[in-house]
Amino acid sequence: MPGIVIDGQALEAADGQTVMEAARAHGITIPALCWHPALSVDGSCRVCMVEVEGRGLAIACNLPVREGLAVLTDSEAVRAQRKLTLQFLTLNHPVDCGICDKAGECLLQDYHYAYNATPSVSNEPKLHATKHYSLGERIVLDNERCILCSRCVRFTREVSGSHVLGIEQRGDTSLIRPAAGRSLDEDPYSDNVIDLCPVGALLSRRFLHQSRVWYLTATPSICPGCARGCTVDVWHRRPDWQLQAVATHRNHAIARVTPRENPAVNGPWICNKGRDLADLLERLRALQPMVAGVPATLEEAMAAAREAIAAARHPLALVSTWGSNEELEAFKEHLGPLFTCRVKADHQRGPGEPGDDGLLIRADKNPNTSRARALFGEAPADTPGDTDLVLVWGEGFDGSTLPAGATTILLGSFEAPENVTAAVFIPLSILTERAGHYTNFEGVVSGFAPCFPAPATVTHAEELFPRLVPEGGRP
Ligand code: SF4
Ligand code: SF4
Repeated sequence: MPGIVIDGQALEAADGQTVMEAARAHGITIPALCWHPALSVDGSCRVCMVEVEGRGLAIACNLPVREGLAVLTDSEAVRAQRKLTLQFLTLNHPVDCGICDKAGECLLQDYHYAYNATPSVSNEPKLHATKHYSLGERIVLDNERCILCSRCVRFTREVSGSHVLGIEQRGDTSLIRPAAGRSLDEDPYSDNVIDLCPVGALLSRRFLHQSRVWYLTATPSICPGCARGCTVDVWHRRPDWQLQAVATHRNHAIARVTPRENPAVNGPWICNKGRDLADLLERLRALQPMVAGVPATLEEAMAAAREAIAAARHPLALVSTWGSNEELEAFKEHLGPLFTCRVKADHQRGPGEPGDDGLLIRADKNPNTSRARALFGEAPADTPGDTDLVLVWGEGFDGSTLPAGATTILLGSFEAPENVTAAVFIPLSILTERAGHYTNFEGVVSGFAPCFPAPATVTHAEELFPRLVPEGGRP
């Protein structure tokens, strides 16, 4: 454990650490653009320059600690060098922050103001490069903004393994480009390069010019797209920046999804399905309780459900693998004793969707199979021939397997043809409208919080289950 001194502070570093890592481990931030904790060292941006006692300037990201090493991270010499570096990095940068999605969370912008804050030293016209280079269906590249830090290239080589990106040509004509005949769309983790890019060179088509980031706030959540249960930030319009006149639906819509770093689950990454949570959660909602396909109040629908449960002789419950731990436990406590309970896969792997890939993605496309099976067992979700009532919670129910004459009670969130043919349909809130926890396939429990209020006509499953128990139970 070498003892080192950073900015006059005596610290213990770990063997093999760099000054950058040792400083961060003690809460000291050294600015950097190309360095990233989850990628190899590139050393190209030179922003992390520190002053080493007796040796002059060196980059902290590639400087190993050794006993007695003393560095200054913000000395006059460091600031002077950093200013020159920032002047160099912005030499051909378009400084089009006014139309750049990265504005507000751009490291180059922040460092420019912290260490440079002067107009360009060059009288030469800036070099121009491609402004809108397509990297596929999801990402566009602005080469003028690119500072050639190579984070995106290293990500595809070291993390996702797709090897799609590289740098073409040399010097000030260098360009990030996909390998010949390849597209970044091949990489199911491609959108991580958008977060990794320290400037606004890699842009999400989905989010392109949709919002300034300071109009948004992030709510901690979990991606329900597979059994990994990656922790994410769901970004949505801040309460104090609600739209009043136009596009007011955006006030309660997902603006973007980014990873919430979690070493126990997903590290700093998520896959592209997690970015597209709006495709899963903003499908057409079912908001109307119904009895035999006829609109009813929630009270009427619950009363009809209680009556059907009380009358059933062989009732079966198909339990949701999208229910939270709390909801599953509430089901078990209140309705478990009244039903034969089976765990159902709400979502199946879609065509072309990856299975277990050794990085994050899992073949099970449901977030809480683990807790559901722990509570309700491993038996297959078959429907015995004598079943006279099926209570279906969530999606993934195949109505064709229903025995003739059996009654159905559906508890769901999205429009589906079965909703109107069920004896009772009760609409439920969705992930972004409630709080709870999921248990992932490795047994790690993570929490999610509500982003939006639930529509008035839907109910939370955890509150509904005790209200479905018939008075006096079931004979
Ligand atoms: S596109 Fe972004 S991440 Fe990639 S090299 Fe350029 S600045 Fe770095
Ligand atoms: S790996 Fe699974 S849980 Fe993680 S973002 Fe992708 S789909 Fe969601």
